[in-house]
Amino acid sequence: MSDDFPEFRVGSVLSTSFTGTLTERHGARVERIPTPARLQAWFARFDLAVARCSASDLDRAYALREAIHVAATARAQGAALPTDAVDLLNEFSARGGATAVLTDDGRRRWHLGSPAAVDAALGVVAADAIEIVAGARPGAFALCASPTCRAAFFDTSRARTRRWCDMNTCGNHAKKARLRAKEAHAGEAHGGVTRHAF
Ligand SMILES: [Zn+2]
Repeated sequence: MSDDFPEFRVGSVLSTSFTGTLTERHGARVERIPTPARLQAWFARFDLAVARCSASDLDRAYALREAIHVAATARAQGAALPTDAVDLLNEFSARGGATAVLTDDGRRRWHLGSPAAVDAALGVVAADAIEIVAGARPGAFALCASPTCRAAFFDTSRARTRRWCDMNTCGNHAKKARLRAKEAHAGEAHGGVTRHAF
């Protein structure tokens, strides 16, 4: 059944991977977590498996996602952070209650309570967003160069020259568009020569 839904985008930054569950915001929008079950699958994919997800959990997830998107976009544009978004990020972080656990093999995992609660998982996502919006991690926000996307992503490249939120989708579309333009141009030039020859 999961094949019927758009795939997740899996980036290295948790909170912008979360905002990446809604893509093509300025084109034909692609909702990658359209149902509670898909939100649950998304959490599991990011090692935040929760016991269950309800419709109201999904609504809260959308609210957090929008707040992160707005705050990250403001950061990318060098604008002031909208107060509503700041308040929401703080609320979700406070409601969280997840515990960081160090595993025997030296990795961090999150304990989300028993049963593992959606609010705890959203709290981890909110805390991750707060960390990068506050500049506590090396990197900088930028907006995707694709005009139909314009997603705010967190650029951790050394020179901060990343242009697309996702190389496999937006980056690839741009590459293909350039190639098509080049081919069309070559075709025109060829056609011109042919007409001239006749
Ligand atoms: Zn993009």
